[in-house]
Amino acid sequence: MRIGYGWDSHEFKTGVPLRIGGVHLPHDKGLAGHSDGDVLLHALTDALLGAVAAGDIGGYFPPSDPRWKGADSAIFIAEALRQVERAGYTVANVDSTLILNEPKIGPHRSAIQSCVAGMLGISPGQVGVKAKTPEGMGTDNAAIAQVVVLLTPVIKKQVKRRARASSSSNPKKRAPSKAKRTR
Ligand code: MG
Repeated sequence: MRIGYGWDSHEFKTGVPLRIGGVHLPHDKGLAGHSDGDVLLHALTDALLGAVAAGDIGGYFPPSDPRWKGADSAIFIAEALRQVERAGYTVANVDSTLILNEPKIGPHRSAIQSCVAGMLGISPGQVGVKAKTPEGMGTDNAAIAQVVVLLTPVIKKQVKRRARASSSSNPKKRAPSKAKRTR
């Protein structure tokens, strides 16, 4: 197994759409950045890359490169996933904390979970999204994201799947059915 950690921050700016976790949130300010400023997806990209020791987001998508101006951060996630797959791993789960004064994340939590899960090919139940206000931190005009990911090796999973398939084809090894167990 591998663990990865990512952190990012962006400043709020008027006249910019607010995107967090790939979801557009209605708000009077958005997050300034060279790309779409999606603080959660940037931290997630770094967490994925970090888990397989494959560098960081800036190494793949330098802010100095005009190609990434206004870019959809889903592109960054796709590249990080390629690196994870190349290293022979798959995502087990993600947990994240957003630290921002506003808007409230609660009403958008499930949309963010679903969107991030879709990008990673996992279920929303494997994506934790938590939010806190920055009490006493003096960062009221910024959004901060912290993300951890857990990866499991692809090969071991396939071996386990094969073992399960062979034991279920052998009646002697087959586990009793749920109906029988509950009787
Ligand atoms: Mg960023």
